[in-house]
Amino acid sequence: MNDRYDVVIAGAGPAGGQCARDLAARGYDVVVLETEPEDEFPRASNKSTAGTFPSMMASYNVPDDVVMQYTDSVVLESPTNYYVRDQPGAVLDFAAFKRFLVEDSRENGAEYRFGARVTEPIMEGGEIVGVRYNGDEEVYGEIVVDATGPAAPLAKKLGVVDLERENHAIGIEYEFEGIEVDRPGYADLHDAMMLRLDHELAPGGYSWIFHTGEDTAKVGLCYIQNDYHSTRSKSSYTIDDYLEHWLETDPRLADAERLEGKQHRGSAHIQMPGQMHTDRFMAIGDTVPSVDPLWGEGIHKCMDSGRVAAATADRCLKHGGVEPTAENLEVYETLWHRDVAPNVRNRQLMTKLLYLADNERYDRLMADLDRLDDDTLSKANDGDWLSIARLLHLEDAPLLAEFAKRELVPTLSL
Ligand SMILES: Cc1cc2nc3c(=O)[nH]c(=O)nc-3n(C[C@H](O)[C@H](O)[C@H](O)COP(=O)(O)OP(=O)(O)OC[C@H]3O[C@@H](n4cnc5c(N)ncnc54)[C@H](O)[C@@H]3O)c2cc1C
Repeated sequence: MNDRYDVVIAGAGPAGGQCARDLAARGYDVVVLETEPEDEFPRASNKSTAGTFPSMMASYNVPDDVVMQYTDSVVLESPTNYYVRDQPGAVLDFAAFKRFLVEDSRENGAEYRFGARVTEPIMEGGEIVGVRYNGDEEVYGEIVVDATGPAAPLAKKLGVVDLERENHAIGIEYEFEGIEVDRPGYADLHDAMMLRLDHELAPGGYSWIFHTGEDTAKVGLCYIQNDYHSTRSKSSYTIDDYLEHWLETDPRLADAERLEGKQHRGSAHIQMPGQMHTDRFMAIGDTVPSVDPLWGEGIHKCMDSGRVAAATADRCLKHGGVEPTAENLEVYETLWHRDVAPNVRNRQLMTKLLYLADNERYDRLMADLDRLDDDTLSKANDGDWLSIARLLHLEDAPLLAEFAKRELVPTLSL
């Protein structure tokens, strides 16, 4: 077996798969090491609800046959109110999508080693030159990429990322049949992705129902395990208990039955990215992390990060003389901040402000969203503070004061 490649990638998720796809298409020798066995792939890593939008589908030429359901709208829901926005989207079969990335990159020559659990970098002269996997197996590359999501075995050992426990978000989801998709008093969820803000169901987070056809849907919830969650959580409740609680209390889910084997769970860190590279090494996807903090859209962001990492590698390798030193790979971080998540700091702050608000404020937010025009809404969604200010009221002063105390004062005093 070949043990030398242009690029070695750990992890065959959206980030690693797309990075391999782009590099293979440019003619590089690339190998992807994936911890799960091929015949069950993806198993534990089949974690995502996989709601996405046409911009991702078109940018990455994703085929229709990995789509479970095309959707027409996004619904935001609070305990007693809702807001509907017409917006086309697609709910993917995440497992089929991951297998598509593998097959497509293989067609261009990418190699995959499944059942290959990466454990540590191989170092020479203080630089990473390869990776060790499955105990004592080794593979070498000009450039090494960690795309293992929150596991980050290489990035952590190289001191490149510091994924903090207090920023750890967990999510769980089941696929159900028997859902009442259009119940009087609620928004019609046919062909919709619905996100619900309700601390009773997901304290310091949100829950969702993504329609997947007829009376079926993906139903789940997530929250960040920090003090925004703990101040509102029910003592001793696990994330599974919260989902059970939702099933017991929401009339739309009264007759819902779990589809066998259709359970997904996973995690990501919701925090400001720090360093993402060093000599001969880049961290991509949720190893950075790249997932959007506000609504957890990670697939597109992580693929974008894989793409800019591939472009950075191409820039060094194509010209032979450009050593992939930390200095020459710096362009990856520049591109990440420019193209992958240009407004990440504002999105982080918006997320915290949102989770600090209480259930009554969520009800009012739905009405506020209804009265604003599309342009202001989309600017607010992009983190424009003037547009966000148009969603605020005088009565929000205590909320804003608490937010400033928690989030802004510590930053200013640094
Ligand atoms: C419950 C849930 C719902 C979500 N819903 C959505 C959604 O609707 N839309 C959306 O856009 N995003 C969603 N996301 C986020 C999205 O799934 C992630 O942001 C995205 O999958 C991250 O991609 P990645 O390639 O960086 O990492 P991952 O998807 O985590 O992939 C990492 C890969 O590396 C492998 N691996 C791990 N450790 C090792 C190792 N040591 N050696 C070798 N391989 C290893 C894993 O098996 C996996 O295949 C959701 C996430 C969760 C948890």
